[in-house]
Amino acid sequence: MVCDCCGATYTLINKSRYGCSAARNKGNAICTNRATIEREEVEARVLGGLKDRLMHPDLVAVFVEEYRRAWNDAQAGQMAARAKTERDLAQVERKIAGILSAIEDGMYEPSMKTRMEELKVEKARLSSGLAETPEPPALRLHPRLADHYCWMSLRTDPALSPRSDPPGYYVFWFMT
Ligand SMILES: [Zn+2]
Repeated sequence: MVCDCCGATYTLINKSRYGCSAARNKGNAICTNRATIEREEVEARVLGGLKDRLMHPDLVAVFVEEYRRAWNDAQAGQMAARAKTERDLAQVERKIAGILSAIEDGMYEPSMKTRMEELKVEKARLSSGLAETPEPPALRLHPRLADHYCWMSLRTDPALSPRSDPPGYYVFWFMT
């Protein structure tokens, strides 16, 4: 924020008003601009400008849509990987059952023992893989999330909300 007359910085000249620092500190020889503005007025204008630009529904809609797509893709990828491991495990279990029933039918061959060991190792590997990657929650971000986000932000004046609100607070609010 600068003075329109001399280009010096507008600073707090007392606890509640901004004014030209040159006019204040160096006198009329440097700048005669004595116009001041309430601190609250400045903050309201800055926050209002931020709200209009950063919280513009179009920008928010783009951000939320990208976020939703990336989140859902990641979830879908995890679920696909898990489904493949489950199919592989079922296949290994079928092979083990096949060897066991062949043995029961009296068709034992020494090579079956080696094969059985291999299948058991494979089964243990797949089972522990499934145990380590728990099923992702079925939750999917709603296609009209952006509408909800705008709806929320329109009802929340940034000047009144706690400064400690993390960015993206409302996005996460809808995820939980
Ligand atoms: Zn000035």
